[in-house]
Amino acid sequence: NRTSVSVLGLGLMGQALAATFLKAGRATTVWNRSADKADRLVADGAVLAGTPADAVAASDLVVVCLSTYDVVHEVIGPLGDALHGKTVVNLTSGSSEQARDTAEWARKNGAAYLDGAIMATPPGIGAETSVLFYAGDEAVFDAHEPVLRLLGGGTTYLGTDHGKPALFDVSLLGLMWGALNSFLHGVAIVETGGVKAREFVPWAHMWLDAIKIFTADYAAQIDAGDGEFPANDARLETHLGALRHLLEESEALGVDTALPEYSRKLMEGVIAQGHARNSYASVITAYRRPAR
Ligand code: NDP
Repeated sequence: NRTSVSVLGLGLMGQALAATFLKAGRATTVWNRSADKADRLVADGAVLAGTPADAVAASDLVVVCLSTYDVVHEVIGPLGDALHGKTVVNLTSGSSEQARDTAEWARKNGAAYLDGAIMATPPGIGAETSVLFYAGDEAVFDAHEPVLRLLGGGTTYLGTDHGKPALFDVSLLGLMWGALNSFLHGVAIVETGGVKAREFVPWAHMWLDAIKIFTADYAAQIDAGDGEFPANDARLETHLGALRHLLEESEALGVDTALPEYSRKLMEGVIAQGHARNSYASVITAYRRPAR
C-alpha cells in the first residue's frame, strides 16, 4: 500500500481528488459518510471502505477533504493508534490555528502531517495550472510530492509552518473579492455610459497588469521595514484626490458608494497619521495588527 492513496470525504472536491488519483492509475480507497457518493468512483475502480479506520488502514497516504476541521476531528479523531506511521494530508479549508493544532494532534498520534489549501475548483483538479499549497515537514512533502502533484501542476511547498497554506488561502480569496467587487463597481459605472461589460474587460485586464507592477514595488517598500514609503509613483494625497472623483461620480450616477467610501475613510485615516506624501504602500499601517 506504499503507492496507494486513501481519500476521506467525497464532497465535490473529494470526488475530484479521488477521480484524479484513479485516472493516474493509483490504487485508491475512498470513504464518505454518505456512501452513495462513491458509486461513480467505485465503478471506475476505487475501493469503498466501510469506515474511516478501514480507509486509513488501506494506504500509507491519507488525503482528507471534509467540510470543516471540526468534521475532520470527528472523523479521524477517534482513530488514535491506527494513524501511527501514516501520512495525513489535510486539504480541508480552515484557519491557520486549526491547521497548527491539527498538526500537533497528528504528531501526538505518531502520524506525519501536511496541511494544504486548494486554490482551484473541482474541475481544475489535475490541471497543469492549478495551485495547491502544502506545509509541514519537508521530507514528508518530498516523499509524497509525485502523487500530490497529480492534483495540480502548481503544487507548491510553503515551508514547515502548517498554518501558512490557510494564511495564503484566505489572503488570496480576499484579493479575489476585492478585485471582483471593484471590477463590478466599475462595470456599474461604465454601463451608465452605454458601455457593455465586455468592452470594459480588456481595459480592466490592462489595469490589473499595471497593479501587478505596483504590488511588487510596494512589497519591496513594506519588506524594507524602515517605515519609509517613498512615493516613486504617486503620493497618497494624490490617490485621495482621484478617489474623490470616483466617489463623486458614483454618487452622481446613483451607483452604490460603499466601496469608494471605504477607500476614502481608509486613506484619510492613514493621511492623518502623517503619510500624505508617502506611497500607497503606507496604507499597510492601517491593516497591520498593532505591534505586541
Ligand atoms: P461538499 O459540501 O461538497 O462536501 C463536504 C464533505 O464533508 C462531504 O464529504 C460530507 O459528507 C462531509 N461531511 C460534512 N459533515 C460531515 C460530518 N459531520 N461527518 C462526516 N462527513 C461530513 O464540500 P466540498 O467538497 O466542495 O469542500 C470540501 C472542503 O474543500 C471544504 O473545506 C472546502 O472549503 C474545500 N475546498 C473546496 C473547493 C471547491 O471549489 N469546492 C475549493 C477549495 C477548497 P456527506 O457527503 O456525507 O455529506
